[in-house]
Amino acid sequence: MASLGGDQIQAELLRKKLDIHVKGVVSAPVMSFTSCNLPDKLLHNIEAAGYEMPTPVQMQAIPAASMGKNMIVLADTGSGKSASFLIPIISRCVSHRLTYVSDKKKPLAMVLTPTRELSIQVEEHAKLLGKGLPFKTALVVGGDAMARQLYRIQQGVELIVGTPGRLVDLLTKHEIDLDDITTFVVDEVDCMLQRGFRDQVLQICTALSQPQVLMFSATMSDDLEKMANSLAKDTVVITVGEPNRPNKAVKQLAIWVESKQKKQKLFDILTSQKHFKPPIVIYVGSRLGADLLANAITVSTGIKSVSIHGEKSMTVRREIMQSFMVGEFPVIVATGVLGRGVDLLGVRQVIVFDMPNSIKEYVHQIGRASRMGEEGQAIVFVNDENRNVFAELVDVLKSGAAAIPRELMNSQYTTRFFSGGKGSKKRKHK
Ligand code: AMP
Repeated sequence: MASLGGDQIQAELLRKKLDIHVKGVVSAPVMSFTSCNLPDKLLHNIEAAGYEMPTPVQMQAIPAASMGKNMIVLADTGSGKSASFLIPIISRCVSHRLTYVSDKKKPLAMVLTPTRELSIQVEEHAKLLGKGLPFKTALVVGGDAMARQLYRIQQGVELIVGTPGRLVDLLTKHEIDLDDITTFVVDEVDCMLQRGFRDQVLQICTALSQPQVLMFSATMSDDLEKMANSLAKDTVVITVGEPNRPNKAVKQLAIWVESKQKKQKLFDILTSQKHFKPPIVIYVGSRLGADLLANAITVSTGIKSVSIHGEKSMTVRREIMQSFMVGEFPVIVATGVLGRGVDLLGVRQVIVFDMPNSIKEYVHQIGRASRMGEEGQAIVFVNDENRNVFAELVDVLKSGAAAIPRELMNSQYTTRFFSGGKGSKKRKHK
């Protein structure tokens, strides 16, 4: 068996850390958009969209798609799939238009989605990322006049986004030159199959001249594999996380602990084999608190931790998140305000060290422990200082079937809002 070179070993290690599995040969995952060789304007648009760093699916799918590979990408909805095909498409279209200057602009890429709504969403997303670039889009879905859609394509577009039914209709009734289409995306293939679009997808694909085919799905099945084989040869399969697993709710654990003892309690958790489940995000109430606590954790427990908050520059925050993602720091101490990228980092445990003033914020924070179908845990410290949210917190804990600390249950600030038994709960609203 051939041995792996140094670069390949590095790539494999990175994939392991990011829970990316690859069948076939593709280049290494990238940790930043700047290493993807993208036009400056596109990079600017990505930054303007608030994407600090690629999500795991983008890290692997963007370089693989840029290599021209046919691919099946298995990842959850919400994992950043659309950008992982739109970014290489836009980049390729821009360089094509710069290289081959011609009056007749034929479409260069096509994205099929199973629903009208999803097509609209993908087209919007494409427009956002392709803003200011030689990149026009046409939407081909039912419910809108076909003549207008046809006219738009004839005026010259780079990308067509649409649903299979309407596209077949358009293609059989009108002459559209699809010879230049080099990228063909089938989004949500599992859903496409469920809705019976198999034959239409194949029909559209045969109208194209052997484009690169990118297929995205949340689940893998025999039918999907069969369809993939009919659409493309030498297909690479990229799996991110375990997309077949159902999304499990966050398990909450509320612990009554006085403010003075919170730090020690936290250290106990972090040093306990049973409770320590990295990667962990710890939420605190202030920026200074975040810096001090991160430092205290490192000093007292030897666990490398780092703070992240709005006072740190975007570049520094990005670097911190990247290190967190590859496991250099198992713990991040953060204030509530964090970029959306963190939602996608695969956090397993959230510790709410300082209970926020609003229950909405609490729900948002603990939600970060359950991304991409992973089961997560949220530990929350609570004491009398948080009495303004007691009643609502009890509700949230109950709805998650979590145990309620005795002190919380018996507190006058909780019981004040309840009269009688469970069924006769009366909530006092401000
Ligand atoms: P999708 O899975 O494509 O539906 O994307 C889910 C959401 O994630 C959308 O709101 C995207 O705008 C957002 N998103 C995609 N990529 C990134 C990224 N790299 N950083 C932050 N958000 C992202």
